Amino acid sequence: MEILDKILEIEKFDEDFVETLKEPEKVIKVLIKVKDCNGKIKKFVGWRVIHNTLLGPGKGGIRFYPDVSEEEVTNLAFWMTIKNSLFDLPFGGAKGGIKVNPKDLSKFELEQLARNYIREIYEYVGIDKDIPAPDVYTDEKIMAIMLDEYEKISRKKEFGMITGKPLVFLGNPIRKVATSLGGFYVLKEAVKKFNVGRTVAIQGFGNAGQNIAKILYENGFKVIAVSDSKGGIYDPNGLNINEVIEVKEKTGSVVNYDARKISNEELLELDVDILIPAAIENVITEKNVDKIKAKMILELANGPINEKADEALSERKVIVIPDVLANAGGVVVSYFEWVQGRTGEYWDEEKSKKSLEEKMTSVFKKVLKLSEKGITLREASYLIALKRLEEAYKL
Ligand code: NAD
Repeated sequence: MEILDKILEIEKFDEDFVETLKEPEKVIKVLIKVKDCNGKIKKFVGWRVIHNTLLGPGKGGIRFYPDVSEEEVTNLAFWMTIKNSLFDLPFGGAKGGIKVNPKDLSKFELEQLARNYIREIYEYVGIDKDIPAPDVYTDEKIMAIMLDEYEKISRKKEFGMITGKPLVFLGNPIRKVATSLGGFYVLKEAVKKFNVGRTVAIQGFGNAGQNIAKILYENGFKVIAVSDSKGGIYDPNGLNINEVIEVKEKTGSVVNYDARKISNEELLELDVDILIPAAIENVITEKNVDKIKAKMILELANGPINEKADEALSERKVIVIPDVLANAGGVVVSYFEWVQGRTGEYWDEEKSKKSLEEKMTSVFKKVLKLSEKGITLREASYLIALKRLEEAYKL
């Protein structure tokens, strides 16, 4: 939330309002117990943070990741408040997380973890309270399990309590690719506007990273490097992304693809036109920012660039498309899915894609226009979002 002070140097906001935003409304910390097949109990800590509900019920994903902390979940919830306001969505900001490496759990243990987490936070979530979604190492199956647990306790159907669900539970047909597709729509506009070339490196090959790699590959961009938690691969002539996806699906990692191996650090420092961090936070910091050669960075991950690195990149005129703008496609389509949940209406792919493109493009243009007053795209995004929040606060 340090960014708030920086924004205040550009424009004045009501002091009470700003103080309100600096603290989350609710932090729920829970201990989740899971029994393994030998009857041994494993314990995990989890959080759900509802940062702000001025503009609507909480909205934000749930991640299962070994490094999750209360501070991280709180920051992520704050970013959701900003993102939802920037995109004019009727949502506040929230986020959840469990400190766990799901790869260490059996299927049976993972299901218990998802069910017991919902049991612990049950009274705080719901269609008009707080609506979770997938994030790092959670997917549509986990969402289906969470929905089932919620409905078992409440004894009623409530599809709108969670998004990122499978289609049969009124999921949205493009939710799985929404974050990447939204990022692509914004990138397309930005490449045109700033006249940037088409070589790309992508860190992270999960939902966000893999899907944007595929979309870019299919749209004539040259993806020369990708990576996952095990490391990266590099081919200056461009990777065949469909083949890389096949290898990732068969073997669990992109590193088994036949190409030059590189580390995650090396990937970030490649001489490319566009760099897309799509994995975790704080991968570009004061330690490596001087080595970053990309002309444009699309923040598909949340918070991949820290404050100091962001300043250095801005001084060097590297164009950074900030997370709250670049990766909002996920929550925009979650909003469509929530509307589906409220109305019982199925949205098809065409309607969803058209609505997403319109939203992403119009918000990008609004941010771009404001940034032309001599501020960064990040600063412009925050200014727009904060103005809407301030109006609600004052009213
Ligand atoms: P995911 O679990 O599907 O994929 C995560 C990827 O990151 C995997 O390929 C994993 O191998 C890789 N990874 C993990 N640790 C790494 C490390 N230390 N170094 C390099 N790679 C590493 O998660 P996702 O949903 O794709 O989320 C990725 C990022 O996108 C997160 O920051 C998330 O908050 C953000 N995001 C996701 C969505 C969404 O709808 N899924 C929406 C908005 C933002």
